[in-house]
Amino acid sequence: MKKPIWLLKLIEFVSPGRRIKIIEGDTPPARLPLRNIVLAREDGENWAVGFRCPCGCGKKLELLLIKEASPNWKLSVDEGGKPTLYPSVWLKTGCKSHFWVRSGKVVWC
Ligand SMILES: [Zn+2]
Repeated sequence: MKKPIWLLKLIEFVSPGRRIKIIEGDTPPARLPLRNIVLAREDGENWAVGFRCPCGCGKKLELLLIKEASPNWKLSVDEGGKPTLYPSVWLKTGCKSHFWVRSGKVVWC
C-alpha cells in the first residue's frame, strides 16, 4: 500500500541523509541498498546511479548520467558523500512518485 505523502515527508525528515556508494564496472549491482544510492563508475566516468524508489514500492530506479543518454541526470556529491540529482525524478508508471534528491535528502513534490 502506498504511504501518504505526509508520512513519506516525515520519514525523510527524521532519517539520516542518503549517501553515495561507488561501484566500479559497466553493470549496475544486482542488489541495491535499502536507502543509499549506488553510483556506477567505469574508467573514471560516472555513468549511472541506482537506488530503490523512496516511496517504499521497492522499484529499482536506474538513472543515466551520460550526456548522450536521453533522459539523463546530473549528479553532484558534497564533501559528506551526499548526492544531489538534477532534474527531478518522475515515474510515469507504477507508484508515479515525483521527487528531488538534494544533499542526500528526498524532497517530495
Ligand atoms: Zn515507488
